Amino acid sequence: MRVPLKQMLDLGRYMGRKKRAGEKYFPLVLMLEPLHACNLACIGCGRIVEYKDTIRDQMPLEDAVGAAAEADAPIVSICGGEPLMYKHIVPLTKRLIEEQKRHVMICTNAILVERFIKQVAASPYLSFNLHIDGMRETNDRILARDGHFDTVVRMIKLLKEKGYRVQTNSTVFRETDAEEVEELIKFLGGLGVDGMLVTPGYHYQVLTNDDLYLTKEEMPLKFQRVRKLADDYKIINTPIYLDYLVGERDLLCSPWTTVTRNPRGWKGPCYLITNGHYKSFAELHQATDWEYYRTKQDVRCRDCKLHSGFEGTVAMDFGKNLKDSWRMVRHYVA
Ligand code: SF4
Repeated sequence: MRVPLKQMLDLGRYMGRKKRAGEKYFPLVLMLEPLHACNLACIGCGRIVEYKDTIRDQMPLEDAVGAAAEADAPIVSICGGEPLMYKHIVPLTKRLIEEQKRHVMICTNAILVERFIKQVAASPYLSFNLHIDGMRETNDRILARDGHFDTVVRMIKLLKEKGYRVQTNSTVFRETDAEEVEELIKFLGGLGVDGMLVTPGYHYQVLTNDDLYLTKEEMPLKFQRVRKLADDYKIINTPIYLDYLVGERDLLCSPWTTVTRNPRGWKGPCYLITNGHYKSFAELHQATDWEYYRTKQDVRCRDCKLHSGFEGTVAMDFGKNLKDSWRMVRHYVA
């Protein structure tokens, strides 16, 4: 399976409960950014630009644990910055798993993984999401660190050997060659990773280097190849989202399905664009016109195909169309 069965069942039960209660705008995933500091400075990283004034801030442990309870999403993606630099990462991970039974994903550049796994055992509730943006030369240039590719490969092998669930996260930029994306997918498949997320580069509102990102016109060509490979390799993008990336269907956005909490508060309206940071999850909801962002009316939504917004739509629509739902089931159990 490309996604753990227990995670899918827990997510399905949670969504059923929310829908029966008449709730429309509820989160599926919390992006918990307990800090924005990082031990890399990747090209195209919006976080280190947007949060340069608070780059040294770290959330108190109780705030981070409390944020997960406040959002109540079944999946918590601990990201950043580099989350393994967070001083409370060990107790945070353990408490989210043991006390709250959240499915925790650590989104990391892999550099500090070895130290972390000496303190946190493998669990059906824990996954790693390792950042790798190409084969050796491309990856090390984008992540601005010689030897990073080799570190990730070593950590994938180590994590698999010790029984942890490992997936990868690769961003496709304008300069990324489609053949290299294929080579990377096949290479990671050979290493036995449990899932691969392949997404277009995010155009953060704070970044001005437009040349880096795929345009609407360029995206189909690169993702047609990814969609084809998804038949044989454990790509976790849903087939519906891949149809959207290749331009064969349109999707509305569901930014409320993936909410972000960081040291400055609840970031809204979405992972990419910032109108403000709110003190509470309730305030984020009160301040945000979800229908406006759902229908992509904002100029900043132009050309956006961010996976968290649109995969959220796919998840929320599951069951509405039998053919799509059957494709999703076949995709995930393969
Ligand atoms: S379309 Fe993109 S920028 Fe607009 S709300 Fe959705 S995720 Fe955010």
